[in-house]
Amino acid sequence: MAYFINNDCISCGACASECPVSCIAEGKEKYVIDASQCIECGACADVCPVAAPQPEEKSNNSKHCGCGSCDNADDAKKDE
Ligand code: SF4
Ligand code: SF4
Repeated sequence: MAYFINNDCISCGACASECPVSCIAEGKEKYVIDASQCIECGACADVCPVAAPQPEEKSNNSKHCGCGSCDNADDAKKDE
């Protein structure tokens, strides 16, 4: 199961430089993990000050791919 970054992310960027496969990038609302490249090493979770990266199985949605698009869509709805 790949890791994904939840909405607690404060976009500090610490995780992106720690990822051994460089699969974390800055997104619109938060940093996002490319789930197809994540090797589940947990380095991002270790350095995150707010514990935003989580193993996917802890997500409420078992089909969550970790790309962050759906979370951003939810945020966009709240802004309407
Ligand atoms: S678990 Fe490891 S490989 Fe996956 S996003 Fe985090 S640092 Fe990168
Ligand atoms: S280390 Fe945590 S708070 Fe910082 S960008 Fe990564 S997920 Fe977001």
